[in-house]
Amino acid sequence: DSNKFQAIISHCKEYGFIFPSSEIYDGLGAVYDYGQWGSELKKNIKDYWWMSMTRMYENIVGIDAAIFMHPTTWKASGHVDNFSDPMIDNKDSKKRYRVDHLLEAKADELEQQGQKEQAELLLKQMDSLLANDDFDGLKTLIENNKIVCAVSGTANWTEVRQFNLMFSTEFGAVSDEDGDNIVYLRPETAQGIFVNFLNVQKTGRMKIPFGIAQIGKAFRNEIVARQFIFRMREFEQMEMQFFIRPGTQKQWYEYWKEERMKWHLSLGIPADQYRFHDHVKLAHYADAACDIEFNFPIGFKEVEGIHSRTDFDLKNHQEYSRKKMQYFDNDIDEATGKPYGNYIPYVVETSIGVDRTVMMVLSHAYEEQDLSTAEKQDSRVVLKFPAKLAPIKLAILPLVKKDGLPEIARQIMDECKPHFKCFYEEKDTIGKRYRRMDAIGTPFCITVDHQTKEDNMVTIRYRDTMQQERVPVAKVKEIILQSLV
Ligand code: ATP
Repeated sequence: DSNKFQAIISHCKEYGFIFPSSEIYDGLGAVYDYGQWGSELKKNIKDYWWMSMTRMYENIVGIDAAIFMHPTTWKASGHVDNFSDPMIDNKDSKKRYRVDHLLEAKADELEQQGQKEQAELLLKQMDSLLANDDFDGLKTLIENNKIVCAVSGTANWTEVRQFNLMFSTEFGAVSDEDGDNIVYLRPETAQGIFVNFLNVQKTGRMKIPFGIAQIGKAFRNEIVARQFIFRMREFEQMEMQFFIRPGTQKQWYEYWKEERMKWHLSLGIPADQYRFHDHVKLAHYADAACDIEFNFPIGFKEVEGIHSRTDFDLKNHQEYSRKKMQYFDNDIDEATGKPYGNYIPYVVETSIGVDRTVMMVLSHAYEEQDLSTAEKQDSRVVLKFPAKLAPIKLAILPLVKKDGLPEIARQIMDECKPHFKCFYEEKDTIGKRYRRMDAIGTPFCITVDHQTKEDNMVTIRYRDTMQQERVPVAKVKEIILQSLV
């Protein structure tokens, strides 16, 4: 629901997770900055994906390619010609909208009014018009549904047109009349992997099937509805291209659908919060594609795409670069008794947005709890992150700022901080300090009190249950480390 969504956005700002970019200048549309805890959370998510991909699969290696790429890359990849969305302008407000956003918003509105069937029909009509690039039909659909611009309040629309989503900039100092010095900010990380396919295959002596993974920034000039970090103009992707023998794509597509869903479940999010959505309209490069959708507070929406990209990309790079993008497969084909020989590999891709994953993890973790008792009213906001993703793993809190307690706490801090992110705090009552740690999702707090001086034990307090128990100081590090695997 949208209240929860708004509450999460406010919480993220108040507790140092996510700020609007350049906020002192009133922000920049659909661009966000990660603060002290948001950047830790995001980094933990990236590390977990990287570890899963490049360590747990022995035939996947990672790379880190540049954001700038030779301009021909984007001709070969089809982005110059095809990476566009149908948009429409309101003649009165001069505001531009993505046609699918306008229609989806209308469908949401119908659904909220209890007109579920009409909403479904509208989305079905939209899908089929989009699949056929029927721009006149899309305009008629907008008119028939009496969709008005939120700014002007009128239905005075232009024709539907395609707009490219890539950002461009000039490369080098001198401007070039032919536009030869125009480069794009990459709209996806995948192409950095394709152009390096042979470099990695040869130097890494990789044998098909194998994968190349990458995490990095991507840029798209999205025409935005207000969706926080769900749809940004600068965002990050975690992509893996898996190179396979032609003809085996169906089986690998199914394999990666299953593997990726397992990864999502390993975040501690239950299966009923996910669903697969098969694409009706396939992208220009794909022969099969689906999304993994998560049940966000704004409804089920895409977090990850799994695409069977055939040999589309490598074949086009071969054509444009005139460099062979082939692999020699010396495995024996049972049908012919001979090696498979030379071919351009097929590719199955898994592509997940870092920021959408952050939003997914935040949405699932966020809980407002009423803790009132007969005696007093009480509540808390808690972020129930899995320990491995939490920005801070352990808060170390001396009960008071004297009697040698800070010194003991500092010793524990020094022992633990090389191993995981710790936080030391001695201000305010212990109750207030616990609540602040709940609000940023710290799974464990330990309190050093006077008793500690006698028995070398501390009180450990668990975020989710709020239960407390005494444990030996010497065991603290081990308890936290065990929770992180
Ligand atoms: P959408 O349909 O929501 O625009 P897409 O199908 O264009 O997404 P892909 O090109 O498949 O997205 O990109 C792979 C992943 O990158 C998406 O699943 C999403 O998590 C992420 N992503 C794409 N665009 C954005 C964006 N503008 N902001 C944040 N994340 C994005």
